Amino acid sequence: MTAYHPLTEAEAIQYARTLPDLFTAGSELVSREIGDGNLNLVFHISEPATGKSIILKQALPYAKVVGESWPLTLDRARIESEALIIQESLCPELVPHVHAYVPELALTVMQDLSDHVIMRRGLMESNRYPLFAGHIGHFLAHTLFYTSDLGMNQQEKKERVKRFINPELCKITEDLIFDDPYMDSPNNDVPPAIRDAVEAVWSDAELHLEVAILREKFLTHAQALLHGDLHTGSIFIKPDSTKVIDPEFAYYGPMGFDIGAIFANLLLHYASREGWDKDAAARADFRGYLTATLREAWTAFEKEFRSLWDRHGVDRMAKTPGYQDWYIQQVLRDTFGFTGSKMVRRVHGLAQVADINKLEDAAAKERAQRIALAIGTALIKFNRQASSIEEMINIADSAV
Ligand code: ADP
Ligand code: MG
Ligand code: MG
Ligand code: MG
Repeated sequence: MTAYHPLTEAEAIQYARTLPDLFTAGSELVSREIGDGNLNLVFHISEPATGKSIILKQALPYAKVVGESWPLTLDRARIESEALIIQESLCPELVPHVHAYVPELALTVMQDLSDHVIMRRGLMESNRYPLFAGHIGHFLAHTLFYTSDLGMNQQEKKERVKRFINPELCKITEDLIFDDPYMDSPNNDVPPAIRDAVEAVWSDAELHLEVAILREKFLTHAQALLHGDLHTGSIFIKPDSTKVIDPEFAYYGPMGFDIGAIFANLLLHYASREGWDKDAAARADFRGYLTATLREAWTAFEKEFRSLWDRHGVDRMAKTPGYQDWYIQQVLRDTFGFTGSKMVRRVHGLAQVADINKLEDAAAKERAQRIALAIGTALIKFNRQASSIEEMINIADSAV
């Protein structure tokens, strides 16, 4: 079973049996493919006799997108497993443990997190996660600080950058986030009800300039090792635990891109809330929970990031008075811009979000799309002036 081929459920069992110290020799194993099948296979292998289980994630050599297949490098499985291992070394509680990576099969063997739920689903079921803001702030502070020139030897960092050149996956982001949504591209999936608002996006020169500047940062600013796809579908959660999965888009980029991915998905959910809460008071309360989460996540990130910098900074120049404040302000501004960019693409670009698209009430769905576009475009236009996270919350609250 060494040459690459997509595994069957039966082959996944055979493979799982070869892993040392996991399952009992000769015992019955059950295999189920549980991925969504667009990019990767995800096998859940369990041993009923002991209750032990494991996940095998295998990259496919293509992505299935609207009926077509795009070839896609298998090297992303290496990138994903190496990123998970680095993240685990920095925040062991917040990512699945990687048991093995098998390059020939583009296969990662990892901890089963089936006792958690995907956060996007959890929010759609109106669940609240009071520990999430602290967990994600910690994850962002540690992964971004310790992979940047602030927290690691700068020559070693350059070697690290080389291992995470991820051109094919970055190209997906460059096109789907920073290009297609701003023109009448065949890759878009424009909801007919909001065509007027989308056309306004296509003709907004002020917006396009900001997106071009943000895109240039995404292309060139090798600031830290990013997760690269940190939406609420990449977060497994339960009340006492948060686990970040699926870093196949990992690369060296601007810190605000990861922070913005989280905030964008909180705000997309915020925009969708009318469809999930018919009651206006309940809706306002849940929106308040989402903006409080955003505020707390930023505050936790900033506090821990500054503390890591003060205690573990490797660089003499980084102690220059005023530099830390300037740096954090840049990260905040980037966060505004990338939050906005990640919202806009989810309204009328390729690959939208279930929070909005699953809404059955057409009027609530249309309002959610308009609110998301209004918040997203306002954040993009404001990004270079931002000075406090409260401004992001004010922009959101003035759109509903
Ligand atoms: P993709 O890159 O194809 O989106 P993900 O890593 O996001 O793959 O996994 C797809 C789905 O498979 C997840 O939404 C989740 O339901 C399931 N899954 C992935 N990893 C695990 C895990 N470690 N434990 C349990 N389920 C998992
Ligand atoms: Mg998926
Ligand atoms: Mg995923
Ligand atoms: Mg993925």
